[in-house]
Amino acid sequence: MTVSHRFNAEPPAFGDAVEIRPGILWIRLPLPYRLNHVNIYVLDDGAGWTVIDTGIGTDQSIQAWRTLLAGVLAGRPVNRIVCTHHHPDHVGMVGWLCRETGAELLMGEVEFLLAQYYANAPHAIDGRAFRQLYLLHGLSEDFVAHMMSEGHDYQRRTTGLPLSFTRLVAGQTVMIGARAFEIVTGGGHSSLQVMLYCREDGLFVAADQVLPRITPNIGVAGIEPSSDPLQHFFTSLASIRDAIPDGTLTLPGHDWPFTGLHQRIDTLVEHHHARCDIVAEACRDGARTVADLVPVLFDQDLSHHQMSFAFAETLSHVNYMIGQGRLRLDTSGPVWSVGLKDRSPLG
Ligand SMILES: [Zn+2]
Repeated sequence: MTVSHRFNAEPPAFGDAVEIRPGILWIRLPLPYRLNHVNIYVLDDGAGWTVIDTGIGTDQSIQAWRTLLAGVLAGRPVNRIVCTHHHPDHVGMVGWLCRETGAELLMGEVEFLLAQYYANAPHAIDGRAFRQLYLLHGLSEDFVAHMMSEGHDYQRRTTGLPLSFTRLVAGQTVMIGARAFEIVTGGGHSSLQVMLYCREDGLFVAADQVLPRITPNIGVAGIEPSSDPLQHFFTSLASIRDAIPDGTLTLPGHDWPFTGLHQRIDTLVEHHHARCDIVAEACRDGARTVADLVPVLFDQDLSHHQMSFAFAETLSHVNYMIGQGRLRLDTSGPVWSVGLKDRSPLG
């Protein structure tokens, strides 16, 4: 095991761990995407390990977990697994891991139920809700067909869930070893992501809410097409910024632990406001569909996997701007469009 007390240590190789504070292990699991890893954290809880997040449900993850359980984690039981949110790269291995170790699952109720929803209702992913949403917003039939099969493959990469769990609620304190962690929850990236804050040690397990390099996907899903996740994200970032000091060592779900939380939050907020301005500019000459706006915000050639995220993210900006009164949605035709809302000359 590589031991380091520096937050800027080199990331651990797959199968290895970096001890970022005594009893807190930073581990990476492989993802089969351009973002090629997810961070998990394994904490010494006195009697054994508490694992935070589990990786995506693939054979590669099973191999990685077998290596960890027989290697850096060997000799002590995995007692508890905390899943921060229902996305497959975080919740994907929880079924397998609970079966393998007998660990108890701790999760926010909303995220647990969402994970159950997607696990029990595969037609929710393949079905009309998503199809309709894409078609109404101007994507072609052909593209939608590809996206439904390839783009949604990610959603299916899970290994089930245990039938029971222990609920984590905002404001509650969870002891992990000698450390007290306050549960923080927030929307935006997911419905109600769970984060853990240890004030005494200046540690914040941020999951995907605040990432050091990339912006977490803020997307509208077919399950709730008129939702406004960007507004929820802004609200959550503001409350995190209020409650958690800048110098806190933040442990994110991807890339590397970092300090400078407030600066990073400010950058994320500015980024999304700038994206809204780009959308407004693109609508200046007339109404556009959400499908038209995707390449305005994402100028690269997108795979179907990336396209499903790009579309969801573009729609989140559109829904936010509708909520803010900047855009208006025209649902009169077979394909919907958005345009700048008329402003009266008197403002
Ligand atoms: Zn993630």
